[in-house]
Amino acid sequence: MQRHLLAINAGSSSIKFQLFRADGSGPDARLERRLVGQLDGIGSHPRLVIRDGAAAMLVDRGFATGEVASVEAAQEIVADWLSASATPLDAIGHRVVHGGADFTGPVPIDTAILARIAALTPLAPLHQPKNLAPIHSWVRRRPDLPQVASFDTAFHRSHGALADRFAIPEALYAEGVRRYGFHGLSYEFIAGRLREAAPSLASGRVIVAHLGNGCSLCALKDGRSIDSSMSFTALDGVAMGTRPGSLDPGVVLYLMREKGMDAARLERFLYHECGLKGMSGISNDLRVLEKSDDPQARLALDFFVHRIGKELGALTAVLGGLDALVFTAGIGENAADIRARIVAMSAWAGLAIDPAKNAARRMDISAPEAKARTLVLPTDEERMIARHMLAVLGG
Ligand code: ADP
Repeated sequence: MQRHLLAINAGSSSIKFQLFRADGSGPDARLERRLVGQLDGIGSHPRLVIRDGAAAMLVDRGFATGEVASVEAAQEIVADWLSASATPLDAIGHRVVHGGADFTGPVPIDTAILARIAALTPLAPLHQPKNLAPIHSWVRRRPDLPQVASFDTAFHRSHGALADRFAIPEALYAEGVRRYGFHGLSYEFIAGRLREAAPSLASGRVIVAHLGNGCSLCALKDGRSIDSSMSFTALDGVAMGTRPGSLDPGVVLYLMREKGMDAARLERFLYHECGLKGMSGISNDLRVLEKSDDPQARLALDFFVHRIGKELGALTAVLGGLDALVFTAGIGENAADIRARIVAMSAWAGLAIDPAKNAARRMDISAPEAKARTLVLPTDEERMIARHMLAVLGG
């Protein structure tokens, strides 16, 4: 049985997508990548890049800012291209950032599910509407196609009662103020890769560091998420490109009282003006900061490493020890110096890397004497969505 599965990952300023050809059904189906594309820079410098499965460029086109001012507009451009190129489609899967307390895995989309996803918008007001836009668009365009929602929170629903709570009155927990955790598609993919690549580690105590524009850490025990640095929103935990990570809530009160910031202003501040960008005053892009000799750039990088090392210590305590650390996503996969610095700070946990293996980005970059392993595994959230589609749609 052969099917073409389109996986869509709509973020705050980009839409990424991959088309897979699935041969067979169920978990053993082979997924061959046929297309990989993204329209990023939405609202600033929009650019559409599409490559085929062999990485040959099919489209590389820039747009004027106003031509692609929103995720909705980007979705229409991508969908128009797929229609015009007569790309075969049998099902569409979507990353949905928030699945609340109830969605513990992917689900087929129908009117009732759409209403439940929309009802979770107050928990992710910036992101949920952007995930819903492509779903509505494809339901309109191709009502004949099955669609599947894959939630970023679902993988973390295995958290126990303590990892799921803040120390606030229980009534707020009951209405949904919980430590959900995010980047679940990435962590589920990495847990699967570990089972293939290092089965003995996969059944142990592992911390995965997903370091991209958004950054978080996840503690895996026997392949299941038991705790994570992100919580109620994707603001918590370590510092990120433009988000501060954990912040004393008193800082927010100060900004409200002394700076007159309202909710909308605070939201912009916390999501877009802090992190590496805010601290350095230069850029949210790690590559730019690594090239800079500005002391503020160095301070931002030092803080980034320090905060991850500290979180790694906390999650190691929750796991009761550490068998392996896995780096993934844009920074985790590519920034050898950042990996080396995080591991150096975590030598107490038995981590040590081999500089040559680290520079060459081998899968296992551990030093021979290391008591806990350090791995680099590329993540693939769109492939995880495709696997979810196969699981949900069956044969
Ligand atoms: P997103 O969260 O949007 O998916 P990515 O996983 O692509 O983001 O990660 C983006 C981050 O990865 C940026 O900070 C970028 O600077 C960093 N990055 C990408 N390539 C490299 C590289 N070769 N060296 C260092 N950092 C890199």
